[in-house]
Amino acid sequence: AKHLGRNNFQIYEVSPEQARQHDVALKSRLRTAARNGELKLVYQPQVDAASEDIVGMEALLRWEHPELGPISPATFIPLAEETGLIVSIGEWVLRTACAQAQDWERRYGLRLRLGVNLSAVQLMEADLLDTVAAVLRETGLDPGLLELEVTESISIKAVPNLLENLHGLHRLGCRIAIDDFGTGAASLDYLRKLPADRIKIDQSFVRNIGLDPDDEAIVRATIEMAHRLNRGVVAEGVEIESHLAFLRANQCDELQGYLFCRPLTQISFENLLAERQRL
Ligand code: C2E
Ligand code: CA
Ligand code: CA
Ligand code: CA
Repeated sequence: AKHLGRNNFQIYEVSPEQARQHDVALKSRLRTAARNGELKLVYQPQVDAASEDIVGMEALLRWEHPELGPISPATFIPLAEETGLIVSIGEWVLRTACAQAQDWERRYGLRLRLGVNLSAVQLMEADLLDTVAAVLRETGLDPGLLELEVTESISIKAVPNLLENLHGLHRLGCRIAIDDFGTGAASLDYLRKLPADRIKIDQSFVRNIGLDPDDEAIVRATIEMAHRLNRGVVAEGVEIESHLAFLRANQCDELQGYLFCRPLTQISFENLLAERQRL
């Protein structure tokens, strides 16, 4: 199947009732998706801005629906959150990605960092820390290589366990990244209160490099602010050379985007690592 974009099958017009029924059907199907092997992870490389060496990867979830084909996470993650299924799915993601990273670490010895997205619903769970600790123990992955990505759209107030869980993850030795930085209503509050090791500049800003001087100023100021606070910075959605040149000139630490690589299946990622190893 071809790589599909966001909300791919929803582009035609549907009535609200049709859309609701569709969601209900998807939710019930989602319940068995993991068990039926319909969920897969792909991995997108993150590169050092100066050397362009691969230094890590982000695990991204894919759902290959038997009848509808690939469904974007932007569509099914919200459904998984509404039903609470995200807790078991998220645990599957964590376990699968950590086992994969540990296997790559053993075979290629590259010490790549692994980014895993956490949903607000997972961050509310009282036993999140037990789950993460168990996965690290079972897979043998170095906790320092695991970076949990927490999106800025999560409200600190609405998720009472958030800070406690993030501090706990730190105590386990994991790293924390603030995802989609700049898009939430409380970016600075987040930066101040969350024990984050780095921030990921949202692709909506990166996209406007070379087009919108205001967004360029925001990107530049964000990188400088993060560095002054001793946080690292990753830019997402780096698609063209001029993005790279701008981000490099402004000391962004790491980059992620189609310019370097699309999210890859396990096999393709291994081919890439094997190629790197031969160099
Ligand atoms: P995200 O965490 O912000 O992930 C980055 C998204 O940008 C991914 O979309 C990735 O494929 C896409 N992307 C990467 N490089 C480029 C680029 O150069 N240009 C453009 N236009 N896009 C790029 P994807 O894989 O469709 O995931 C969408 C969102 O779904 C993610 O956004 C994340 O919020 C959520 N998601 C994905 N996997 C998981 C998961 O395992 N758990 C949770 N809770 N959420 C997930
Ligand atoms: Ca992310
Ligand atoms: Ca993001
Ligand atoms: Ca996003």
